[in-house]
Amino acid sequence: MKLQTLIGLEFHVQLKTKTKMFCACLNNSENEKPNENICPICLGHPGVLPVVNEEAVRMALKAALALNCEIAEFSKFDRKNYFYPDLPKGYQISQFDEPVATDGYLAINNVARDGLSAPLNDASQLKRIGIIRLHLEEDAAKSIHEKNKSLIDFNRGGAPLVEIVTAPHFSSPYEAKSFGQELQLIMRFLEISDADMEKGQMRCDANISLRPEGDANLYPKTEIKNINSFRALERALAFEIKRQTELWLDGKPPQTQETRGWDDQKQQTVSQRSKEESSDYRYFPEPDLPPLTFTKKDIDAVRAHLPELPQAKRQRFVEMYSLNYEEVKILTATKDSADYVEKIISELQEWLCSTAEGTKEEIWARHSKRAVKSAAGWLINKFLKLLDEQNIAFNENKVTSENFAEFITLVYQNKINSAAGQIILEEMVRTGADPSQVMEEKDLKQVDNEADLAKIILKIIKNSPEQVEQFKNGKEAVIKYFIGLVMKETKGKSDPRKAEEILRVHLVK
Ligand code: ZN
Ligand code: MN
Repeated sequence: MKLQTLIGLEFHVQLKTKTKMFCACLNNSENEKPNENICPICLGHPGVLPVVNEEAVRMALKAALALNCEIAEFSKFDRKNYFYPDLPKGYQISQFDEPVATDGYLAINNVARDGLSAPLNDASQLKRIGIIRLHLEEDAAKSIHEKNKSLIDFNRGGAPLVEIVTAPHFSSPYEAKSFGQELQLIMRFLEISDADMEKGQMRCDANISLRPEGDANLYPKTEIKNINSFRALERALAFEIKRQTELWLDGKPPQTQETRGWDDQKQQTVSQRSKEESSDYRYFPEPDLPPLTFTKKDIDAVRAHLPELPQAKRQRFVEMYSLNYEEVKILTATKDSADYVEKIISELQEWLCSTAEGTKEEIWARHSKRAVKSAAGWLINKFLKLLDEQNIAFNENKVTSENFAEFITLVYQNKINSAAGQIILEEMVRTGADPSQVMEEKDLKQVDNEADLAKIILKIIKNSPEQVEQFKNGKEAVIKYFIGLVMKETKGKSDPRKAEEILRVHLVK
């Protein structure tokens, strides 16, 4: 029997508004002492009235538009009733049957062929994942379980969340992870959440079921909770596929819905309970809040302020700068790095145009492709590695985009060779120094004057009659011996390609 995997995801994303969802308490629970940011409203005292946070609504609309959703003209809040110590009111204000937005999609890359296999990194390999709904709600407080007691911190209670529910469109753990990462990037590009999974700013539950291939029925699903990293998401789903496959092959497929938790230590899912139906929550409209209504004008105003989103940015980088998708994905991994790269490219244009003859357009047309490629190579293969090795956060790096562009100009115009480039870049990362200055100070300028280089080469040839004879007799490999001598003589500062060129001319004379 061949089985098909169906996975759907639910995300809760904490919005980084100034204040909480329905009161004026500051929304910065992480930075405060426990139970500092609280008031009668978020503690659910009797007789108080909630007020909708406009900033949270605007952020939810941004997220909805970025996910290609339909915004509802009319939407309302509902009470979701359940009892838990971290829920002071005995209900959560959420949205039930009329959410802010529905029917969206997000196209993801990296359509993996199976489970954990390598990604296909081609912009044409997009898979559209349906978004069923997006709604606003308030967060619960945080329970902290210690050895003999449980404590509650109400700071987080009432913080604004958007909940995003996808259709069961994922067919592998890899796709699910890719979606989560893309969603995280979008939240960050929109500047509506830091969406850090480890900090609980983005939380994920996964629903998974299997069915025989060709069967159109849906079978009882398992919901996996406690997923606090993308790695855990991928692993928990892989574990469930294996577990459920065995059940199907034993002729005992899951009969009821079940909630399981991911145990990171044991690397397995553990049964928690059979799931409540939604009717258990006795949803009813929130009587203390007016409905939300949006006109086309309201929606257009939000749309007009949407930034360029990750996928559009990648596509533009590929087209504008002739870089390949793999490079672009790395360079645009954060909004800051993408901005940095674009500043470098524009400074690079200035540098090249100020040091070459011709009109700006001509010069740039002639050099842009190779110069940008070189910049991308140094950024990805050296610079990011150096930051990583020295534990420097990207935003705290000392190399200005102008200095980086100047550095690339030195490399590109063969003022330094790549060994010298490595030394200079290391110094720049360490101290933020100017590349030309480091080059002068460390005497790393390439011997690029042909006459000087030829003089050195003629001397070498004169002192190596035996090797010259070997070369003339067809022993090609001897050329390496000569290049080695040139590099030694110039203390590694000559361009090996140029040295070889001159050597070949003089060796056959
Ligand atoms: Zn409050
Ligand atoms: Mn929820």
